[in-house]
Amino acid sequence: MSAIKNSGTKPEILMRKYLTQAGVRYRCNSKSLPGKPDVSVKKWKLAVNVHGCFWHGHKNCKNFRLPKSNVRFWREKITRNRERDTSNRLDLEEAGFRYFEIWQCEIERGDLEKLDEFISEYWKARGID
Ligand SMILES: [Zn+2]
Repeated sequence: MSAIKNSGTKPEILMRKYLTQAGVRYRCNSKSLPGKPDVSVKKWKLAVNVHGCFWHGHKNCKNFRLPKSNVRFWREKITRNRERDTSNRLDLEEAGFRYFEIWQCEIERGDLEKLDEFISEYWKARGID
């Protein structure tokens, strides 16, 4: 699983392209930030994670169906992922970050509202500097 996560999943690659095209300069998987967010701009305290709908248990999403076998194993695994997501989010927010959680299915259907918000926060922050 970690191999899959670190290689950059497709929605993550699409997101990076989108941000690059918008002129955003960002870092990927910064080790100095809680949970190594997929994309972050430390200077402007912005961070984004794209969550796979299955691994992170996206509620009411067609991509998330608990497998029929080993139900307990999967439920516990996904619950742990969600708990980690929450704790990383709180750590980032405590450090003063604006944090954006984006779902794989949003990117896949071209719903880029949160990314647009991220981009506008980025330019707003840069304007102040
Ligand atoms: Zn989803």
